[in-house]
Amino acid sequence: MRAFWDARQLAHAPALELHNGAFVPFGEAPVRAEAILAALGPVEAAADHGEAPLRAVHSSGYLAFLRAAHADWRAAGREGDASGYAWPVTRRRPLALDRIDARLGAYSFDASSPIAAGTWEAAYWSAQSALSALGAVLGGARAAFALCRPPGHHAGRDYLGGYCYLNSAAIAAEAGVAAGRRRIAILDVDYHHGNGTQDIFYARGDVLFVSLHADPVLDYPFFWGHADERGEGEGEGATLNLPLPRGADLKAYLPALDIALGRIAAFAPDLLVLSYGADTFAGDPISYFRLETADYAIVARRIASLGVPSVIVMEGGYAVDALGANAASFLEGFG
Ligand SMILES: [Zn+2]
Repeated sequence: MRAFWDARQLAHAPALELHNGAFVPFGEAPVRAEAILAALGPVEAAADHGEAPLRAVHSSGYLAFLRAAHADWRAAGREGDASGYAWPVTRRRPLALDRIDARLGAYSFDASSPIAAGTWEAAYWSAQSALSALGAVLGGARAAFALCRPPGHHAGRDYLGGYCYLNSAAIAAEAGVAAGRRRIAILDVDYHHGNGTQDIFYARGDVLFVSLHADPVLDYPFFWGHADERGEGEGEGATLNLPLPRGADLKAYLPALDIALGRIAAFAPDLLVLSYGADTFAGDPISYFRLETADYAIVARRIASLGVPSVIVMEGGYAVDALGANAASFLEGFG
């Protein structure tokens, strides 16, 4: 399978994140991408598709903020990585965004996603990798893989969070629409709900969003991903959330996957964008499903049996020692 990547995606390297009340080494580290690269065969350089596909998904205000945030942070006399500390939970009036701290709060929903010097560049090229994989599929490939890092599925139209800054899966899906694909399905199999992707397409009937993830009653991102979130307006019924309990192994996972695939087949998409997270792995340090390395080939084979041209976008996965083998197992199973 063709795979796409750009070394500038390593430029994003925050030092610390706030986790369970303590500042700990940033978990979504460049070594994740290096582990996957080491396990794959040859990888192609992503092509630059420019900023227009990003603007089709994210607001211009958000993109301007994200591009400038770290420089603005330094200009305010700060050291290290930029992170917010106040969030506008109630928006009774237009937001005052003069201070970098106000902008950080307005354009994020958590404190786990600092902005470092290389964040914009890395997120930009992560999105370009997804667009390059889309290009391969539009050119006739049955499937292509984008080694996206940083991941994207928690990022919404105008917010970052959950290690995510630009929503590469959504950017690829929207670019698929721009290229003439009429019905696009997004299947998100990361451990965590893809709240950003859901938000972006929540009122859209031409983009189906289906997600298998940990029940948000107990797991991040808590405020999205519940089974009763089904879309709105023209998108009513075009969101399907399948939350699973902690401890789910392959036996518990496959029946939910089959429900997801049945819904996708009924939608009859002409393009599938797959948000693949390996944090469903039994050994993942921040997650609680129990999939094994060999299980990813089984899961991938079932998804591939849809027979829909597929753009596979890397999302999470934090058991670095097993990450390469897990991604390789998934891609080999996909065929
Ligand atoms: Zn995740």
